[in-house]
Amino acid sequence: MGFHATVFTLYPEMFPGPLGNSLSGKALKQKIWSLKTYQIRDFAVEHHHSVDDTPAGGGPGMIMKADILARAIDVSQTEYPCFLMSPRGRCFNQSMARELADLEGATFVCGRFEGVDERVIEARNLIEVSIGDYILSGGEIAVSVILDSVIRLLSGVMGNVESEYNESFENGLLEYPQYTRPQVFEGRSIPQVLSSGNHRAIAEWRKSQAEAITKARRPDLWSVYQRKHGKA
Ligand code: SAH
Repeated sequence: MGFHATVFTLYPEMFPGPLGNSLSGKALKQKIWSLKTYQIRDFAVEHHHSVDDTPAGGGPGMIMKADILARAIDVSQTEYPCFLMSPRGRCFNQSMARELADLEGATFVCGRFEGVDERVIEARNLIEVSIGDYILSGGEIAVSVILDSVIRLLSGVMGNVESEYNESFENGLLEYPQYTRPQVFEGRSIPQVLSSGNHRAIAEWRKSQAEAITKARRPDLWSVYQRKHGKA
């Protein structure tokens, strides 16, 4: 039971990091998920323990060595899919979070420097995953982002199961605006319909708001939604 996360990194002290708090921290204590980190440097056999070398063909920066990473991955012998954090990868999204949450576990490799030797990606069938079109200095924060989104989907983690289905992306739309007390804040009232007690009217209002916000902010999501629902 539970989701087993394995992480290969040059900075194991970055874990669980933020995942040790709040929902994910509580779930970790409850063993709803587990975390095992490996220091990649421990698999370097050379006396100076170097894990990187200069790029073949020249150019700036350093490249993580294929042999050391391969040895690390082999030692852990996990039967779970192995993901390499990489800006070139498939862009992580909510449906990938759901796919991962259905697995018993996953292994994550964190790159550093200019990235990793291509041959280890091929030789160990690493699945490249990106968390967005920007460059981080390492894969650790990307793994934390992915794990955070996966953990909250594991059963027993979220208090209110319904809330995860209303959220942005789950139905192809961004979320409608939310309000809570006080009734009036700096002269701004909560939209009247929300106090009407009319659940159908509330649901309709929320849907129309979600559609309007998605149309205005995310034309990409909106066109997919339109095609699916035959909206003009
Ligand atoms: N030279 C590489 C970038 C290296 S950044 C390139 O141009 O593609 C160093 C490491 O940070 C990467 O190996 C990767 O593990 C991680 N990283 C950087 N940006 C990322 C992103 N958007 N998503 C996931 N991991 C990322």
